[in-house]
Amino acid sequence: MNQNILRLAIQRKGRLAEKSLDLLKKAGIRIDNYSRQLLVKAQNFDLELLFIRDDDIPEYVQDGVADVGIVGENIIYETGKRLNIAEKLGFGKCRMSIAVPKSETFNSIKDLEGRKIATTYPKILKKYLKENGVNATIHYISGSVEITPNINLTDAIFDIVSTGSTLISNGLKEVETVLESEAVLAANRNLSQGKKELLNEILFRIRSVNKAKNTKYIMLNAPNKSLEKITKLLPGVKSPTVMPLALEGWSSIHTVISEDDFWERIGKLKNAGAQGILVLPIEKIIV
Ligand code: ATP
Ligand code: MG
Repeated sequence: MNQNILRLAIQRKGRLAEKSLDLLKKAGIRIDNYSRQLLVKAQNFDLELLFIRDDDIPEYVQDGVADVGIVGENIIYETGKRLNIAEKLGFGKCRMSIAVPKSETFNSIKDLEGRKIATTYPKILKKYLKENGVNATIHYISGSVEITPNINLTDAIFDIVSTGSTLISNGLKEVETVLESEAVLAANRNLSQGKKELLNEILFRIRSVNKAKNTKYIMLNAPNKSLEKITKLLPGVKSPTVMPLALEGWSSIHTVISEDDFWERIGKLKNAGAQGILVLPIEKIIV
């Protein structure tokens, strides 16, 4: 493998595929003419992409076939590969839970003693049962785990849950969350110095993109007498920028705010005398 190119494994098709590519694009990495060949070189960065199934990513990265990979934490734990998790990426979020038929009473995980549990993730489940001192039979199934209690194959399931609607439509209830997972950038533990530098540059860009994701740039006008009250409502990156307007006694305030409490804050700003509020998206925040 070329020592001066970082090889990144990403999911070929599936829930993480588009979002992984999108993140790279926002980080300014151009991947033109790609038609999902196995290996594609970026146009403007020493990076090549390897498109594979998500299950194979941890092994490829551990063994150095790829240097880094974008994959769900759940897959890393299930495959048991030894990797460095360089960054959590904030997408592909899900949890892994145990569910039982709705009609069952369930007080604790101990209730599963001696029972049968179906899953696609036997390793994570086995570890969890062991930690809780529960002996149960793990029934490995490669898909449609949620139907197994209904056909009396198992007493419970352990599976990925995002909204929970699949469980409900199969007459199941979620009783225990075992793991929370999201997509991460995972790296081989023995990267060369040159590859570490490439990884650091990508990490720097990804962090700038992700930091901007939840934020907006806000501009507003306010009478000078309200300035103190308004600036207190706007923390900004350091502190808000305040500039005089041509109109005597008025100022313009510019700053960055978080999307989370956005509407609440807007209400307070209006009450404090803010006018002409403009809100703009931010592409990147360099910290
Ligand atoms: P592949 O063909 O690459 O093996 P897959 O079918 O195993 O794909 P996907 O369904 O595309 O995998 O899911 C990829 C990852 O997305 C999961 O391992 C998990 O980390 C994450 N994920 C997030 N939400 C969900 C969900 N609701 N169901 C399944 N996976 C989810
Ligand atoms: Mg898979």
